[in-house]
Amino acid sequence: MTDKRLRIADVVTHFESWCPPSLAYKWDNVGLQVGELHQKVTGVLTTLDVTEAVVDEAIQLGANLIIAHHPLLFAAPKKLDTTAPKGRVVKKLMQHNITVYAAHTNLDIVEGGVNDLMADALDLKEVRVFLPEGHDTYKKVVVFVPATHEQIVKDALHTNGAGNIGNYEKVSFVSQGNSYFQPNAEAQPFIGEAGKLEKVEEVRIEVLVPSKHVNQAVKAMVAAHPYEEVAYDIFADEKKGKPFGLGRVGELPAPTTLKDLAALVKQRYNVPHVRFAGDASATVETVAILGGSGRDYVDQALQQADVYITGDLTFHETQDAVEAGLQLIDPGHYAEQIMKKKVADYVQTAFSDVAVHVSETDTNPFQSI
Ligand SMILES: [Zn+2]
Repeated sequence: MTDKRLRIADVVTHFESWCPPSLAYKWDNVGLQVGELHQKVTGVLTTLDVTEAVVDEAIQLGANLIIAHHPLLFAAPKKLDTTAPKGRVVKKLMQHNITVYAAHTNLDIVEGGVNDLMADALDLKEVRVFLPEGHDTYKKVVVFVPATHEQIVKDALHTNGAGNIGNYEKVSFVSQGNSYFQPNAEAQPFIGEAGKLEKVEEVRIEVLVPSKHVNQAVKAMVAAHPYEEVAYDIFADEKKGKPFGLGRVGELPAPTTLKDLAALVKQRYNVPHVRFAGDASATVETVAILGGSGRDYVDQALQQADVYITGDLTFHETQDAVEAGLQLIDPGHYAEQIMKKKVADYVQTAFSDVAVHVSETDTNPFQSI
């Protein structure tokens, strides 16, 4: 059964509950690129880039939402000449009422995003952030609930991102007490009656919530709470959460040679060719990965890993890095296409009635012979 009320905004809201735009770099341009968020969804297409061929694919599939990794509009255009490539794409999107949404550096940084996918594809273990930018922050949410409704409110909190600490889930602290209130004449109290002081046995539930999930968790908690007026507090928690940032570093399941790893990268990232530099027979075990263009981070890779996997490496940088003792593998920028399936799966899992497609258009500008 198709949910006729499902709008692009609903898909975007769900996507952002995993991959918030706030994770993106300030210089980036993520989120809505072209179109509108309030129209009904007819289908979703995930892609690395929005080229004219990708727009044609969306039209063919009847999909009016394209979710892309690379922003269609990055540098602010001064004009949209619809005879030039970019303008032509925008014109076609508008003529066909197709909305384009981009998740760029936020999708690189987010847990489970591009860089984690690239690490997972090589079965890396002990995966950590390559270039930490900061730490997740937490809030402490405290809510007072009649004892009868403790579980239902806790469930609402836990299913919306609250109460995860390290390897522990559904973590809460609960204490008992009494609450007192006197409803006025306009109140519609769940317990008690107008003008009469009530004493109710309540519990105080305390949970830790990652800041990015607070709005969602509080909304669900209030919806599950039986009271007309819910008493709750949100406190800042100064403890450091998990680090976040670009790239990943991890350990291969077993040491291998640079050449064998390069072959594995080619196969697992499903790219037409892979360049590598260094000593083909060198043993590599600790791997640094940065999807897209990572040539600015060779020094950090040298400090943290035996081999650095990134795209868009240039001649001189590679030469210097090899001289310094680093092994390098360049699977090309196109390796980031790994995000297409993950984003499609994420949307499809939440909205089983929506047709979600992974773009089959090859947007890699390079060919090799
Ligand atoms: Zn990229």
